[in-house]
Amino acid sequence: MGIRENAEATGGATGDDGAAGEQLADRRDAAVRAAVEQGIVGPEIPIAAFLDITGIRRSARALKSAFSSATSAPVLHAFAVKASPLVPVLRLLHEEGLGAEVASPGELALARAAGIRPAATVLDSPAKTPAELREALALGIAVNADNPQELTRIDALVRSAPSSSPIGIRVNPQTGGGSIEALSTATSTSKFGVALRDEGAREWLIGAYLDRPWLTRLHIHSGSQGIPLDLHVQGIRELYALAEEINARVGRRQIDTLDIGGGLSVNFTSDEEAPTYDAFVRELRGTVPGLFSGAYGLVTEFGRSLLAKHGTILARVEYAKSAGGRPVAVTHAGAQVATRTVYAPHSWPLRIAAYDPKGRPKSGPEVAQDVAGPACFAGDLLAADRPLPLLEQDDWVAALDTGAYYFAHHYAYNSLARPAVHGFSADTDGKVRFAVIRAAQTVREIVAESGGAQVGALEGM
Ligand SMILES: *Cc1c(COP(=O)(O)O)cnc(C)c1O
Repeated sequence: MGIRENAEATGGATGDDGAAGEQLADRRDAAVRAAVEQGIVGPEIPIAAFLDITGIRRSARALKSAFSSATSAPVLHAFAVKASPLVPVLRLLHEEGLGAEVASPGELALARAAGIRPAATVLDSPAKTPAELREALALGIAVNADNPQELTRIDALVRSAPSSSPIGIRVNPQTGGGSIEALSTATSTSKFGVALRDEGAREWLIGAYLDRPWLTRLHIHSGSQGIPLDLHVQGIRELYALAEEINARVGRRQIDTLDIGGGLSVNFTSDEEAPTYDAFVRELRGTVPGLFSGAYGLVTEFGRSLLAKHGTILARVEYAKSAGGRPVAVTHAGAQVATRTVYAPHSWPLRIAAYDPKGRPKSGPEVAQDVAGPACFAGDLLAADRPLPLLEQDDWVAALDTGAYYFAHHYAYNSLARPAVHGFSADTDGKVRFAVIRAAQTVREIVAESGGAQVGALEGM
């Protein structure tokens, strides 16, 4: 796989967004129905997660075509593995021509297991150990140094062994945060990168490139969900200006590639996919036209925006009860699969869809109710006081837009098992076909992962 990708047919992805949203909802409804009918879920499999393969492919193609129609320079779309650390998903994206952005030895191992080549892999963690750096440089993986101390380590490694790794420095443009503080990486005191507006930082950066002819990249990632489009664009404009300044000072085009990060926000309020990659590129072209002159190769690192809309958690209503006059549906999806929503419900509200015991969309007058999870603490709610058709025992609830940072990010509270993850697509005859992406965790595995083999370790200690 080369990093230059040709524009491809984009399916419905760049067409009418309303129609694309409707298709997405139709595919999801068909999958829920089929999952119930085919026994993928049932009374003894009360929770599973699903990924819409058609939707993921469309999003990947929409991303590629947005950039390939804007620049003739090479573009590597490195999927942020953090967003969906599942090997078959990485493999699917690889098949669509994407690479991987990794930030830990585990994520690198997942990318390699998926067959993603080092040349299509970028390492970005803020806390890389000497061994991690050595491995990345030996493999030829692109590395973005986070800080001066890391650059000093890289200096020594580059001196000791030649490497084909493209190497850059991450900068924090200090352009400010978005609506979710924990995900804002371009605040003035963010832990990430070299803080560009700090005293002396710009001169230090220019000197770092003057001293190191092998430093050929600059990297930025202004944050994730909640960062408005214009803040991303503003950060990238600063990155571009810095690259131009450094290249002018060095007297040649030493910086040849700009890594513009990921972080496009996802619409969690409806089935519409917005903002689109086309809108993002349009905005970038308007504000930083030089980015698309062909003088710079580009790397992107999108995660959530590629996957979120294509994931669904389906959970059974085990019991329906009432407390203090409020109906409460006790389901099997809670903090273990929707950790952020449960602990920070105002930052991470999720849409919930109701289905009847046969997996058909449930209708009827909406009643404000709580949709609770199975964990033993009071805050374990997927949704509070949410108007929905009254949920009853044996109904199903679906937590929508959970394809990134949800079920793939299991939280082991109450030793609740990791649910299975299934990919789905429709055959030509319309029948929904499922493939296991990750099998459900077994109780035996839970015991093994919880020190089962060391049962006597503390005896007599
Ligand atoms: C998390 C992260 C991304 C991906 O962010 P999304 O919001 O999922 O697109 C990209 N680059 C870096 C450096 C990150 O930390």
